Amino acid sequence: MSSARLIDRFGREVNYVRLSVTDRCDFRCVYCMAEDMTFLPREQILSLEELYDVGKAFVELGVRKLRLTGGEPLVRRNILELVEKLGRLQALHELTLTTNGSQLVKMAPDLRKAGVKRINVSLDSLNPDRFKELTRTGDLQQVLAGIDAAKTAGIERIKLNAVVLRGRNEDEVMDLVRYARAEKLDISFIEEMPLGAITEHNRQLSFVSSAELRERISQDYELFPCSENTGGPSRYYRMSDSGSRIGFISPHSHNFCNLCNRVRVTVEGRLLLCLGNEHSVDLREVLRGRPDQLKQAIVDAMAIKPERHYFNLEEEPQIVRFMNMTGG
Ligand code: SAM
Ligand code: SF4
Repeated sequence: MSSARLIDRFGREVNYVRLSVTDRCDFRCVYCMAEDMTFLPREQILSLEELYDVGKAFVELGVRKLRLTGGEPLVRRNILELVEKLGRLQALHELTLTTNGSQLVKMAPDLRKAGVKRINVSLDSLNPDRFKELTRTGDLQQVLAGIDAAKTAGIERIKLNAVVLRGRNEDEVMDLVRYARAEKLDISFIEEMPLGAITEHNRQLSFVSSAELRERISQDYELFPCSENTGGPSRYYRMSDSGSRIGFISPHSHNFCNLCNRVRVTVEGRLLLCLGNEHSVDLREVLRGRPDQLKQAIVDAMAIKPERHYFNLEEEPQIVRFMNMTGG
């Protein structure tokens, strides 16, 4: 099966996997988690060895980009061991992770040594009190110091991710753009997705569209569309006087499914074929019962990758998983 590739029924090639390495997190962001969360018992989550086997199988099936996520990937015990092992897979072009930044001060140098050249860091506010409100437990200074540490460690490309909520942080969009420009970072603004039943706010009222944000930013900086396509829900723009790119992640207003090149694996080993659908295959059962069939199970799963998702704000939540289970 060495030349096998992952192609679904609609001719889309899967070459990008997001692997969740924990459902736990040191933050409790209002759009992602409830205040009181119950996390999975240890036996239900994949061990670091199992996570490695899954990553390796995908790479052998042609996957070239692997993103570790969670929960907060950097709070998983001994996560660096996994990063180092995955970083040694020759065929993998890009090993990256999405983090809340809280552990970067201590971990950025080792991540860089293990081969991580790009990371995404979530940052919704530059105001310490508001940052605390949105993350419930986070410390802004720690995250900003973490971003500095990642730059110093030589992580070449850092992208900020900001979820924008009306009445909460929409007034900070230009401050975040200016921060990204000053620090030479990319930044993506994310429309909130209806994942998990949260009670903290009403998602219909808090929704801010990417179109509205683009319009606001264009008043200060002319935006030029970038030609590259990530195969995901992001659209990127450049400014004439800065190397920073501005992205808009719009699962509601931009249907990107026809270009989808990715799948996700939850920390329980559930292979999710689409962020907005429940179609999945239990890879944990394969890993623990018939590990020699892991690659075949992944190839077979391509047959159930749905054509598209149908997010609808008026009927939330259609997906009962929380984002920390799905892995962003
Ligand atoms: N803990 C890491 C972090 O926050 O970057 C990685 C996991 S987190 C689930 C991945 C991304 O999903 C973050 O950028 C976060 O802002 C985003 N996210 C979480 N819940 C979301 C939601 N309901 N809608 C849109 N984005 C969400
Ligand atoms: Fe944790 Fe990331 Fe979810 Fe925030 S968005 S609660 S940092 S997993």
